[in-house]
Amino acid sequence: MSDRTPRFDPAEIEAERQAAWAERGDFEAPRPEPGQARVYVKPSSPFTSGNLHMGHVRDYSLGDAYARFRRGRGDAVLFGFGFDAFGLPAELAAIERQVPPAEWVEKSGEQMLGQMRRLGYSFDYDRVFYSSDESQYRWSQWLFLTLFEAGLIYREDATVDWCDTCNTTLATIQVEDGLCWRCHNEVRLIRRPTWFLRITPYLEENDRNTERLQNWNELALATQHYILGRSDGVELDLAGAGRELTVFSPHRAALGLATFVLLSPRHPEIDAWIGDGARDELEQLRSGGWERSARDAREVPVIDTGARIAGPAGDELPVFVSPLVDARFGPTAALGVPAVDEADAEIAKRMLGGSSNPVEREEGEEPPSAPPVEGARESVHYRANDFSISRQRSWGTPIPIIHCEEHGAVPVPEADLPVVLPRDILPTGEGNPLDERPDFVDVPCPVCGAPAKRETDTLDCHFDALFLWVPAAVPPEARSEQMFTHPDLQEWLPAERLVAGGDSGGFVFDQRIVTKALRDIGPFAFMEEGEPFAGCLFHEMVIADGRKMSKHLGNVVDPDELVGKFGADTVRFAILRAAGPAKTLNWSEGEIKFASRFLRNVWTYSQDRFVALEEHRHDPEAAADTEHLRDRLRKWCEAGLEKVTEDTGELQMHQAIRNITRLFERIGQYEKRVMQRRGQLDRADAEAQVAALVLLARTLVPFAPHTAEALLLASGRVDPETLGAWPEQVDIPVAFEDPTPAGT
Ligand SMILES: [Zn+2]
Ligand SMILES: [Zn+2]
Repeated sequence: MSDRTPRFDPAEIEAERQAAWAERGDFEAPRPEPGQARVYVKPSSPFTSGNLHMGHVRDYSLGDAYARFRRGRGDAVLFGFGFDAFGLPAELAAIERQVPPAEWVEKSGEQMLGQMRRLGYSFDYDRVFYSSDESQYRWSQWLFLTLFEAGLIYREDATVDWCDTCNTTLATIQVEDGLCWRCHNEVRLIRRPTWFLRITPYLEENDRNTERLQNWNELALATQHYILGRSDGVELDLAGAGRELTVFSPHRAALGLATFVLLSPRHPEIDAWIGDGARDELEQLRSGGWERSARDAREVPVIDTGARIAGPAGDELPVFVSPLVDARFGPTAALGVPAVDEADAEIAKRMLGGSSNPVEREEGEEPPSAPPVEGARESVHYRANDFSISRQRSWGTPIPIIHCEEHGAVPVPEADLPVVLPRDILPTGEGNPLDERPDFVDVPCPVCGAPAKRETDTLDCHFDALFLWVPAAVPPEARSEQMFTHPDLQEWLPAERLVAGGDSGGFVFDQRIVTKALRDIGPFAFMEEGEPFAGCLFHEMVIADGRKMSKHLGNVVDPDELVGKFGADTVRFAILRAAGPAKTLNWSEGEIKFASRFLRNVWTYSQDRFVALEEHRHDPEAAADTEHLRDRLRKWCEAGLEKVTEDTGELQMHQAIRNITRLFERIGQYEKRVMQRRGQLDRADAEAQVAALVLLARTLVPFAPHTAEALLLASGRVDPETLGAWPEQVDIPVAFEDPTPAGT
């Protein structure tokens, strides 16, 4: 390093670049020009927890690198996000601090936005939204009413955990070993009316489309297959005691070996099959918490209905009831074939005293089979099913329903939206504070005007999430009127790429369902496939010391601390390089040290060469002697650029970074070879090397944008207006051209 080399001071460099971006409005979503590719990069929507964790840093560093890359290639890029701000995490945090959740959410969101800015993420920050804002949740209410009218939302009794002391229902995570998280009293299961989202009409289409999705990584596709839970098999009609029953089995070659029939407790015809003796048992099973118990065939509850039905081979089969069916095939009836099915063998052992494990076979032995059964027809079943969307909590979107004694559940007229959630609500964990608010609860019935009660259940934040990918595509000033009808939606949707954690599969599956529903209902008719995301990258989580990060283990890595010590670029570079997106990232000090050393080396090495360039003299003979070395450097650069371009386009950022570090090594090797041959660099050699370093800095922009842009500026060879441009070709001068105009 010469004494003229500008110091590598990440804090200073980063502050300067961030100020320049903000001033120029570099990341505002542009109005796409005709023929320009529209690329909406959708990052995950964080809960307003108050702090970014390393998983967020991984998510946004991946998305940001991709957004910068596509911008650099001249595409119109929308990179926007919002907070999933309703729901239990915010409510619990507010209870702990005894502040209204609205206050907590605002403070946390500001804090997290500050962290994101400091990390240099190129979001369009003007488009940030909170799902708990009135202008936002009125659309959750609109969506509720729209789906309700389309018959896709219904109300039915469901089992929920209830604490008598706290006088409230509890979420699964609030039940610890059967005890209330707050008062440690025993939790009861009660039945109460619950709102459900009907997803079954779209399962088949989700299934079909999943086969055709392009640009989805394997991890993302695997979650969609898992949630769908498709079973291929056959269906046939059985008869017994004057009744018919259609049963399903995935074992088409062994139907004749069936020894029992298993019925879902949610089967539409269950009442016809359950004898008086078993009715109490069924009631117990329904309210007895099987939803919480293990769905393992060894422990799952099974009821003998006492009924018999003629099986495929003609013999009488007992009819049992068990939620095991739901966990495997959805709410249907299934044949139990212990000879070929492990779970069925467990049930048989428990209910019929069958042998220990009939399924075990010698290697290469054919599974047992039976003659084909007449009347069996191809059939597909899905495990995915309707799910509850209402919670007895106060920090959520109010459900736009009014209960009238005369008219039942009446939808709030659209003109009366939003149903406003009181901002000053202060939950304590006891009861539902909305029940205590006459100003909220007591309203006239929209139909008859008689005194009626507002629904005090709120929507689970999973429901808000059904359309959290939409708002960023609508200009903020238009959101209160045109959330689902704004013309820009047709520009940006479907999103070119969703980047999200591997645990987002459920959200994404349901977002895909609702897109199809809104296509059929009308607003999203322009999305013919009904798919919200054309591409999808799921990534695994970040752990430390081989374990999940937790306060309890004391292994939590704080992004702020790392950024303070090493700078944002180093943190981003390290997390992108450490592992491919589909791998769990085991964080280590080594990664951050490598990244810090590498960026510092690139900085110092490049700056030294930029500064020294003018000192190199040109000698045609010397230049001719090293021309082949410059030619090799050009080829290295071409090969490197091609690989990095391909990797980055496929979001394989770890691979791209490895290719960048390799190219840097080669640029160093090139200099060593010239020195070995001539003892010094000719001006031609130095020019070629500086051009290679400029190319290297350009490829670094998506991964270490501050350092890369500052280097490009320092090179004096780049238009300050196009710092983010991606190099589409390699421009390394092999034959020397004297840059000094004649006569000077
Ligand atoms: Zn309690
Ligand atoms: Zn009424």
